[in-house]
Amino acid sequence: MSTIYLDHAATTPLAPEVISKMTHVMNNIYGNPSSIHRFGQDAKLEVDMAREEICSFLNAKPLEICFTSGGTESDNHAIIGACFANDGNHIITAPTEHKAVLNAINYLVENHGYSVSFLSISEDGTIDLNELKFLIKKETVLVSLMYVNNEIGLIHPVEEIGEICKAHNILFHTDAVQAFGKINIDLKNSAIDLLSASSHKIYGPKGAGFTYIRKGTLIDKTVHGGAQEFDMRSGTENVISISGFGEAVKRCKKILDSDFKKISELQAYFIQHIQSEITDIHINGSLENRIYNNVNISFSGCNGEAILHQLNTKGIAVSSGSACTSGSIESSHVIEALNLGSSLTNSAIRFGLGRSTTRDELDTVISSLKNIIQLFRK
Ligand SMILES: *Cc1c(COP(=O)(O)O)cnc(C)c1O
Repeated sequence: MSTIYLDHAATTPLAPEVISKMTHVMNNIYGNPSSIHRFGQDAKLEVDMAREEICSFLNAKPLEICFTSGGTESDNHAIIGACFANDGNHIITAPTEHKAVLNAINYLVENHGYSVSFLSISEDGTIDLNELKFLIKKETVLVSLMYVNNEIGLIHPVEEIGEICKAHNILFHTDAVQAFGKINIDLKNSAIDLLSASSHKIYGPKGAGFTYIRKGTLIDKTVHGGAQEFDMRSGTENVISISGFGEAVKRCKKILDSDFKKISELQAYFIQHIQSEITDIHINGSLENRIYNNVNISFSGCNGEAILHQLNTKGIAVSSGSACTSGSIESSHVIEALNLGSSLTNSAIRFGLGRSTTRDELDTVISSLKNIIQLFRK
């Protein structure tokens, strides 16, 4: 059976260049980057080169990039580290953030006396910057709002958010896991203080990510030890994954425009055709401020989980946004925050398009979906 992978927001396959790079490193480079001898320095060079790729992509300085194990650790590092190192005990975020952000903040609330305010979410996922200004108080230490939402693809106006924070002397963190590698980000002239990114969402290996920490921003370390990563995150560097991450970034930089052009055309094609082929559907998330590879649709009267299983039997991989937690199905907290009512909330499917996606694949998905939805609605 041929398979169709439409879950690129969950993770991506490795780019061929990444595999070559990592194979080379696995075969030849095994020193500890902290060692002074040649073996160590060869390994250090791989880490430095990856850091350099990231810096040139983001217009950042090497000292501002701290490698971590991925997006989750970077979100925790930025949020908990910044809160502990700076005055204030109030945080502002949104209910549509990734669990890595929400649960890091929740940890601070439950265990360290912080309070949190959540922005309201409109039906298409957008936030209101006037409400953000209204929620800021003198105890506010941090605002954390993602660059691109992982479920509905919504792009937040991060520079405007950053400017508001800057004007109030508050730190701004953005989870850019779904934006980094897809959107041009220039951090030099930006109002972003802290940014998190992950390798495996951009055709790199799992187990690598970074926290960007603007020069001068105070942040506590969350891992204590041998003072690696400029003493911001101890532990022997994951040289293999970091070298692959660097290669993945290099590739993203090179084909940023062609990826955008090709995949956004597919996105428009998919949305247009699904709208004309299947009735009673609802596109979740703003159509204007949307990342080019995300399509999220509710099929009213159906169950998202059941659609996912039916597609899976046909070799098509998507995400229903809901997680099956200890036997009971919980609908996605992001879709829930849109307040669309239970019929639309329980029938949301996320399609994550990627570099390998073709029109033929999308045609197959649409015709399969048409049959499945017809069957369920009978
Ligand atoms: C995937 C993802 C994360 C978590 O990153 P990992 O590298 O898998 O830990 C955090 N935030 C967003 C928006 C994501 O999509």
